[in-house]
Amino acid sequence: MIVVMKMGSTAEQIEEVSTRLTEEGFKIHLSQGVERTIMGAIGDRTRLEALDLEALPWVEKVVPILAPYKLVSREFHPADSIIRIGDQEIGGNRVHVMAGPCAVESRAQILETAHAVREAGATFLRGGAFKPRTSPYSFQGLEEEGLRYLAEAREQTDLLVITEVIDARDVALVAEYADVLQIGARNMQNFILLKEAAKCGKPVLLKRGPSATLEEWMMAAEYIMDGGNYQVMFCERGIRTFESYTRNTLDLSMVPALHALSHLPVIIDPSHGTGKWHLVHPMAKAALAAGADGLIVEVHPHPEKAVSDGKQSLTPERFQVMMADLARLTSALDRELGEVSKCVK
Ligand code: PEP
Ligand code: MN
Repeated sequence: MIVVMKMGSTAEQIEEVSTRLTEEGFKIHLSQGVERTIMGAIGDRTRLEALDLEALPWVEKVVPILAPYKLVSREFHPADSIIRIGDQEIGGNRVHVMAGPCAVESRAQILETAHAVREAGATFLRGGAFKPRTSPYSFQGLEEEGLRYLAEAREQTDLLVITEVIDARDVALVAEYADVLQIGARNMQNFILLKEAAKCGKPVLLKRGPSATLEEWMMAAEYIMDGGNYQVMFCERGIRTFESYTRNTLDLSMVPALHALSHLPVIIDPSHGTGKWHLVHPMAKAALAAGADGLIVEVHPHPEKAVSDGKQSLTPERFQVMMADLARLTSALDRELGEVSKCVK
């Protein structure tokens, strides 16, 4: 860790901090700059937290330098990572929009949605074939049949397919059909699944657990990278707070926070992040303004009939309006929206 002293702190104040640290077993390295003093403290991080040095008025901040995540951190890879998927790149100047229903419900539903979101400017088709449901009595997904419909939709539209895998035993099967594997919020710390996804050879979108801290989330990504798969993207989808108007609280501060700490792209899910369709468009704009590399948005041709998450799903018409707005916003931000390069078949 480093302890940054406030400008103008006295020799006695520096000495006091240094003594406290040495008493807790830290080895101190002093760096006295022209304006301020920085103290390198090597030792047990948990003891430093107990010292609460930031409570001292002459301590500016205490910064851990030995982050537990290593491959995920910017120190490991100072430039932004670009994830190459088919002929698309995520993490560069182009912002990608992944869109589609919460669940693949039928062949007709997924094909209709795929054409509609493709027309509006999405580059990826989303849709769950395996659904992690809170209730065992809710629709669990079409499983492999759903994966086949997604692959057929890709054939017809050239959209890339992102779909969720909920069980380590299904990773190989899902990877056969999908271009990106989604690991859902409920499985963020399913370490067996993370290790299996590390071996699948496909990029992984890692959603944040509803009550996961940034560090826990980064450590989950570390599992995938440590397993040899460097194609990882973070996805903020809202966390559980005391607020009950929204389904979750969409923590957009994670976009710049992750960009500061990590080289991996950050995708925002304003659908699960709010739970309400009318909040999706404004929060999508806010996400891009905060620097997100992409969005994942639920779109359903008939939200009122959706088997899951209809309340947060945009109709294709509303999605189109949002995309037109996002196109203007991305150009104001000196970025571009991703495009499907081939023609619709
Ligand atoms: C989903 O994308 O439909 C989903 C279940 O997401 P989450 O894991 O974020 O709840
Ligand atoms: Mn959903």
